[in-house]
Amino acid sequence: LRAQPTATGCRRTGHSPVTLVFLEDKAAQSLLNKMIHTSLVNTTNQVEVLQRDPNSPLYSVKTFEELRLKDKLLKGVYDMGFNRPSKIQENALPMMLAEPPQNLIAQSQSGTGKTAAFVLAMLSHVDPTNKWAQCLCIAPTYELALQTGKVIEQMGKFYPEVKLAYAIRGNKLDRGAKLQEQIVIGTPGTVLDWCSKLKIINPKKISVFVLDEADVMIATQGHQDQSIRIQRMLPKECQMLLFSATFEDSVWKFAERVVPDPNIIKLKREEETLDTIKQYYVLCSDKEEKFTALCNIYGAITIAQAMIFCHTRRTAGWLAAELTKEGHVVALLSGEMTVEQRATIIERFREGKEKVLVTTNVCSRGIDVEQVSVVINFDLPMDKDGNADNETYLHRIGRTGRFGKRGLAVNMIDSKHSMNILNQIEEHFNKKINKLDTDDLDEIE
Ligand code: ADP
Repeated sequence: LRAQPTATGCRRTGHSPVTLVFLEDKAAQSLLNKMIHTSLVNTTNQVEVLQRDPNSPLYSVKTFEELRLKDKLLKGVYDMGFNRPSKIQENALPMMLAEPPQNLIAQSQSGTGKTAAFVLAMLSHVDPTNKWAQCLCIAPTYELALQTGKVIEQMGKFYPEVKLAYAIRGNKLDRGAKLQEQIVIGTPGTVLDWCSKLKIINPKKISVFVLDEADVMIATQGHQDQSIRIQRMLPKECQMLLFSATFEDSVWKFAERVVPDPNIIKLKREEETLDTIKQYYVLCSDKEEKFTALCNIYGAITIAQAMIFCHTRRTAGWLAAELTKEGHVVALLSGEMTVEQRATIIERFREGKEKVLVTTNVCSRGIDVEQVSVVINFDLPMDKDGNADNETYLHRIGRTGRFGKRGLAVNMIDSKHSMNILNQIEEHFNKKINKLDTDDLDEIE
């Protein structure tokens, strides 16, 4: 359990405990996604483009050469192993590199190439002979800023004249000290201080402004206001770019305040479906029986890789230990781990070093491991009110139409309540979940 801040503590920071918890999860999730996406995610969906001026021709590129990048940058791009622009980059890059500069709001799921796109745009716009801040990028957390900074350093590897500064907590500069670096990446609070109170950056000289992870950013009121205050200090002709993985109404409203006259690019995420999944449930009386049933399933069918979901860290820890005693090579993903530790575990599992991954609900969001053929809900996903969490169920079990292989999902039921959740899930997806007799497992092989 996460410690709840006291009532006075909340009043002092101005956040409700709910906001704090939510933000931490969203930011941590986003960071984890960045760390585990070592290549582009697959997508067959078409990019939707809305141009500010519908009469101007729509350019898209199929190669990086067409962008007429500086050689040093093209070299950096190829050195990162990129062969051609990703789906979203095909449209976003020509827009971002156009003259005169165009504003852009872009939305696509994590891992589709947004960061690489705006990093390339920033690097292209910089004039390295000018020793002042020209491109400003804000990210929701310290860790996310560092992660993006790494991409800037990597892509700019052959362009050493361009320098990068981190406007993050702990990086103390004196009032009035003038920044020589052309690109600044930071968090809203520190960036705001550097632009206003400390006058380390002259906002009037910024020509590209990037707001990354808008959906994570607005999860706290403070960041939203700070971002808007930063944006207000920038010159009118500054290029404004905003990126987000999701696009709820609140994100959209925020985006429109930060980016005037935008072009808009959206890439729908691949729909998940339960169509190629065989779903079953097993009746048990307690967690020991659930464990026995799990062992029976393992004994009866060949499982390449499985993910097992538990409700609490305690159950997850217990189950991982029991499975290990049975001789399984088990990885455990748990809430008290740092994002780095989690990323390492997911990477190892992806490489097949472990065959079973036991995880709690919170840790598992957003993780796609395509080769996993069996998913066990040791506990069914439910929301904080104890109702079925259909979205999480779909995300755990579901496969994206074209890339998904067939799969097997087994739900462990040990109470009236969990049976109830199962029924809600059946009803929601209008799909029957069959009972499985774990003493006779011929039918699932
Ligand atoms: P996002 O910001 O949308 O999460 P990233 O820009 O971080 O996506 O890209 C996800 C992963 O794909 C990263 O590992 C990145 O290096 C890689 N990548 C980005 N663009 C390309 C490309 N054009 N070709 C190959 N890999 C790419």
